[in-house]
Amino acid sequence: MALLDKFAAVAAIRAGLNTSSHDPTQVVIGTIISATEGIVEGRHTILAGTNNYLGLTFDPACIAAGQNALATQGSGTTGSRMANGSYATHAALEQELADFYEMPYGMVFSTGYAANLGTLAALLTPGDAVLLDADAHASLYDGCRMSGAEIFRFKHNDVVSLEKRLQRLGERAENCLIVTEGLYSVLGDCAPLRQIVEVAERFGAKLLVDEAHSLGAYGDHGRGVAEAEGVLDRVDFVVGTFSKSLGAMGGFCVSPHAELKLFRYVSRPFIFTASSSPSIIATTREALRQLVARPELRQTLWRNARQLYQGVQSIGFTTGPEVSPVVAVRIGEKEAALQCWNRLLELGIYVNLMIPPASPDSSSYLRCSVSAAHTTAQMETILEAFRQLRQN
Ligand code: PMP
Repeated sequence: MALLDKFAAVAAIRAGLNTSSHDPTQVVIGTIISATEGIVEGRHTILAGTNNYLGLTFDPACIAAGQNALATQGSGTTGSRMANGSYATHAALEQELADFYEMPYGMVFSTGYAANLGTLAALLTPGDAVLLDADAHASLYDGCRMSGAEIFRFKHNDVVSLEKRLQRLGERAENCLIVTEGLYSVLGDCAPLRQIVEVAERFGAKLLVDEAHSLGAYGDHGRGVAEAEGVLDRVDFVVGTFSKSLGAMGGFCVSPHAELKLFRYVSRPFIFTASSSPSIIATTREALRQLVARPELRQTLWRNARQLYQGVQSIGFTTGPEVSPVVAVRIGEKEAALQCWNRLLELGIYVNLMIPPASPDSSSYLRCSVSAAHTTAQMETILEAFRQLRQN
């Protein structure tokens, strides 16, 4: 096959998405109005697929912090921390994240994707074994692959499957790493972290949890699903992103292990990329402060999550297995899902279209993510649009 021939298959898949009026891969928010509204194709649209769980992207204090950093520290760092040095604020954010999680060590990366690549590729080497939840995010897969470790997948959220894999590993089990997420981002289901921790401890394995979608949403302090399950102090590495609840960009790893301090010397996705710009760091730091200071954001998020989850169910749709800030509405066939997605857009509602292979089973879903910034009226409008889908 010639080098470029493989793109014929990509073009065919894309053409399949183009059968109706709007292409889900080409949505342009012409004007962003607020955390929950934008203008899409000239139409006022409620944004219900942004992962902006706490609605902090337009928070005045976060914006002021970013603007101040931009004015006083410049637009970018123009290089990696290893080569160009760190700004004091990178180190301050690392400390603040460690304090937030009540763990001694923290490390910041330029994206959540890089945090997963950088943590896993530093931690694992060829010859190591890693046990990965089958539905884990691409960045977790990529990090494991990049490390050269031997990857064993266990069935999604299935502790029995995990245990079987560990048993089969024999003596290697006590040196292996288990990788899971807190909240899974497509169906909005949580990992059984308490049971996973117990199994990990029984076999002497280490555990890494990606709380990308659960930071700010779960736990008494908003630290994620591990906190909600009461096992945060038994997790070896927590990774996460600034691009969802914190409304910025970047990622992190925190850990009780002092070795995390040394990851920066071996982590290529940390060493060979530019560090986050000062405005991003300042926005993130302020957002973390808001997350801590305003637990009512979390309460509003959950009120909205319950309203949407129960609302779409009462209209007659099948949803993901539990109430969460991610509300996945099962449509079934890809073509029907594409049609429904288009119809919602025409009704002024933007959600995410999840079709195989991006969805965890062979079904297609309309994936909604709820925000603390959604008003009750907006939630009603979203539900009314789903009602109309049902009537058509
Ligand atoms: N982990 C998970 C579970 C994610 O869903 C994502 C992003 N969708 C990431 C990591 C990567 O984060 P970022 O987009 O901030 O790079």
